[in-house]
Amino acid sequence: MSLFFNVSPSPKAPLLSIIIPAYNEARNLPMLSDRLTPSLVEITEEFEVIIINDGSADETAAQIAALHQHDPRYCGLSFSRNFGKEIAIAAGLDHARGQACVIIDADLQHPPEIIAKFVEKWREGYQVVYGQRIDRATDSAVRKTLSEWFYKVFSMAGETPLPPGAGDFRLLDRKAVQALRAMGERARFSKGLYAWVGFRCIGVPFEVAERAHGVSSFNLHRLFSFAFDGITSFSTLPLKLWIYIGFIISFMAFLTGSFYLTRTLLFGVDVPGYASLIVSIMFFAGMQLLSLGIIGEYIGRIFAEVKRRPLYIIGERFGIEADPNDVTPPPFSKTPPTH
Ligand code: UDP
Ligand code: MG
Repeated sequence: MSLFFNVSPSPKAPLLSIIIPAYNEARNLPMLSDRLTPSLVEITEEFEVIIINDGSADETAAQIAALHQHDPRYCGLSFSRNFGKEIAIAAGLDHARGQACVIIDADLQHPPEIIAKFVEKWREGYQVVYGQRIDRATDSAVRKTLSEWFYKVFSMAGETPLPPGAGDFRLLDRKAVQALRAMGERARFSKGLYAWVGFRCIGVPFEVAERAHGVSSFNLHRLFSFAFDGITSFSTLPLKLWIYIGFIISFMAFLTGSFYLTRTLLFGVDVPGYASLIVSIMFFAGMQLLSLGIIGEYIGRIFAEVKRRPLYIIGERFGIEADPNDVTPPPFSKTPPTH
């Protein structure tokens, strides 16, 4: 229950919380709020909008402060640095009080008008309503193909397939929010987490708009590491794969060995073969390093998890009060020095 007491712009918990991760979105936020407020007012007056400034270098924080001043239902947080969109969403879910939470991008690629449809479905009894993009025209051909491939690999490797076209634009019932908050992992691949928690889900199609201002912060490199995060946090297939590869290679070595043994017994020793020797040494050394690298990736992730660092550090708050239970003292402060 304590999470309901950590924010108090109004004593009553709102029906709907809107969560907006924002990284360098100062120019988009006023445009977004101009469209968001009327769409929300049509649904309910009892809403709150939580904007998470993910260490922006521009005026995003000032914009949140201005929005809060103008309409106290808008509030927000500033991270002490850039922690990434996934963590920003986690912070939003931690601070949201609504019976339903809607996650929406700040760049107007997700039309706020669709939220009414989400709420309609939620009232019908669905606990997760996700926006399903019907058009990826705003994405490059490379990104489209890679994303299709990723969905295939993820469905093959993970235990829960991802619904295609579903992203972070979605409504989550309080039950789903609590389930997501219970997952304290650092490598947060939200799409996988949403699928993992389950509940009654339904998609609402929507068209992805062009980014209003600025450029996407997800370049190919970041997308790759994001996809890798997704696979490694939901599957151990990359680790198991090496058992099969090792088995196949050993079997091939056995066949080759038998072949050379027979040939030597029948026709005597054959000295040439320097090139094939070098190539096979290099090939197998490469394979070994690759498998070690994969193991290393998993160890790195275990290391990051066991450190149990907080997911994010809040630098500034706009209309969201600090939760007194929020401050976790470091373990060593429990035993004060005795000298
Ligand atoms: N974002 C964030 N932290 C980051 C990168 C992005 O909070 O490190 C936010 C960004 O402000 C936007 C949303 O995540 O609201 C989606 O980002 P972007 O538009 O760059 O990604 P794309 O739409 O290309 O997937
Ligand atoms: Mg975008």
